[in-house]
Formats: sequence, C-alpha cells, structure tokens
Amino acid sequence: DDTVARIAAGEVVERPASAVKELVENSLDADASTIDVTVDAGGTELVRVADDGRGMSEADVRAAVREHTTSKIDGLDDIESGVTTLGFRGEALHTIGSVSRLTIRSRPQDGDDAGTELVYEGGEVESVEPAGCPAGTTVEVADLFYNTPARRKFLKTTATEFAHVNRIVTRYALANPDVAVSLTHDGREVFSTTGQGDLQAAVLAVYGREVAAAMIPVEADGDELPPGPLEGVSGLVSHPETNRASREYLATYVNDRAVTADAVREGIMGAYGTQLGSDRYPFVVLFHDAPGEAVDVNVHPRKREVRFDDDDAVRRQVDAAVESALLDHGL
Ligand code: ADP
Ligand code: MG
Repeated sequence: DDTVARIAAGEVVERPASAVKELVENSLDADASTIDVTVDAGGTELVRVADDGRGMSEADVRAAVREHTTSKIDGLDDIESGVTTLGFRGEALHTIGSVSRLTIRSRPQDGDDAGTELVYEGGEVESVEPAGCPAGTTVEVADLFYNTPARRKFLKTTATEFAHVNRIVTRYALANPDVAVSLTHDGREVFSTTGQGDLQAAVLAVYGREVAAAMIPVEADGDELPPGPLEGVSGLVSHPETNRASREYLATYVNDRAVTADAVREGIMGAYGTQLGSDRYPFVVLFHDAPGEAVDVNVHPRKREVRFDDDDAVRRQVDAAVESALLDHGL
C-alpha cells in the first residue's frame, strides 16, 4: 500500500544525498566509465545521475521500479557469501520513486534496442515511451518528498543538503579514479575527475592543487603492520600543515566501501599526535583491507559506520601505517 511504501521510503531516503548515493552505486554496478551528477537547490528540486554504463532494455526499465526487483542477487546464498555489487536490496528506485517524480531514460550498450523513457510519480508508472538517448542510463529525481510534506519539512538549507551531496559524490570519486565523475550544482561544475588518473589525480580534481600537493602516500601491507585484523592500509594523508576544522575530509574505506570507523579515525589522529591543532583534521583518503568476518557492518547501516572484532588492534595498525608515512617525510 502507498502509505507503507512512503514510510519505508523514509528509512532508505532521508535526504537528497541518499538518492544520490543509491543512483551512483547503481551506475558503478552498471560498469559506467562516466558518471555525471547534477543537482539543483541542494538536490531538493532535482537530482540527476547520468551514466554510460550497461543500460537497460524497456523490460529492464519497467522491472527496475518494481518492488523488490534486483538483477543483482540469485538467492540467499549470495547474501551469505557476501555480495560483490554495491546494491542488493532491489528497492532503491521503487522507494525513491514513491516519494518523488522519477524519470528513467536508458538504452542498452549491447544490441540495437531503442531507448526507453519511463516516468514514475508517487509510486505509479505514469508513462513508458520510446526515447532517443545515448547508451547508458539517466535517472532524474525531481521534487523529492513532494507528497510527504512532513518529511520535506525536515530538509535543511540548500547549503547543508548540498554539503551532504558533495561529500557522497566526493567519496565515490576518490574511490574510483578510473571512473570520470563530475558534480554540478545549480548549473555550476563543482568538480570533475578525468577517469584516467590515479588517486593523486582524483584528489587534485576534487580538492584542488594546495591539498593535492600536501598529500603523502601511505602503503603498508599486513606483514609491515602490528598484529590485528587489517591486511593492508593504503592511500594518501595530508601534511599536518594542510588541515581543516572538520572531520569531513577524512575519507576512509574498508574493503572499498566508504565507511567511518572510530578505530580508524582514532588511529589516524593518534599518528599525527600534537602536530595538528585541537579540533583540526587532516585530509585523508585511506583504504583498509580486512577479512569480512572481522568487520561488523550492522552498527549503523545507513550512516555507514563499522566496527571491528578487535578495534584496539585496528587503532594500533592504522596509527603505525600513517605514522611511518609521516616519518618517511620527516614528520
Ligand atoms: P538494486 O541496485 O538493489 O538492484 P535498485 O532499485 O537500485 O536495486 O535498482 C533496480 C535494478 O535496476 C538494478 O538491479 C539494475 O538491474 C537496474 N538499474 C538501476 N540503475 C541502473 C543503471 N544506472 N544502469 C543499469 N541498470 C540499472
Ligand atoms: Mg541500487
């Protein structure tokens, strides 16, 4: 029933940034090499994600907005063995579409199918028509929460909503330097990565020259780390002189998922010691590898917070990895 769907939608879609996250994950799952994210008014008026991924046939587009349909899971076995694709619940498009005006335009890369445009409003398919469009998929989410005024009232200012969007797109752009990711807000391009560079190039595109120039590589394999669950720590951390008064620039990943973890943050901050002022944080893009069973992802699924079976050991491992990188630079 509609009401149930709208309530459920609130759990998945909290704000425009949640829609951005689901759409970008779908584009990555579709093996896109270009992902263009466009938002208006912080995403409250419009979120558009355009990709050059696999694309969908008309039947695929129709199926994509149906409840609990996903092309990414075969059965329970997949869940238990750990899914490799980012999305697996098969409900994002359906739920986003129940609280917005959703338009999907898509054309498959393979074959000579025409494109399809499907319009979905408040949980109903309004129209499905052939459309001329490039191979790949464009999803537009307009007027988020137009039919749930109570939830719309909870949205913050344009600046705050855009900050959430920016943080999400930044995380994905940094984790996927081989994908060209762009972000445009109210007609102004905020950043775009080339999709042809390494992590350093992605940092340059996203944060600019000053920050990119301050980055120090971190590279520690399991045997170089103190004992603990982490099998590797790698990425970039900034010289302590380049810092900000916000944790927002700590982009941390566990097994390539953008997550936060207290142990990781404390390890990073411990490595800098007193080199940062109080309430100052470095720029960090740091990837952590750990066996799946050492990571508890159910702490706060929506906020993407994880814990480890041995948080103390992880803190020591991250501290050691970052400290040795800083030491190599005489810090
Ligand atoms: P999930 O990602 O969990 O499967 P979604 O509701 O996000 O569920 O998407 C439903 C389905 O629509 C996906 O399984 C996929 O087959 C298709 N789909 C969604 N977005 C795209 C895209 N950008 N490119 C190709 N297929 C897509
Ligand atoms: Mg999805």
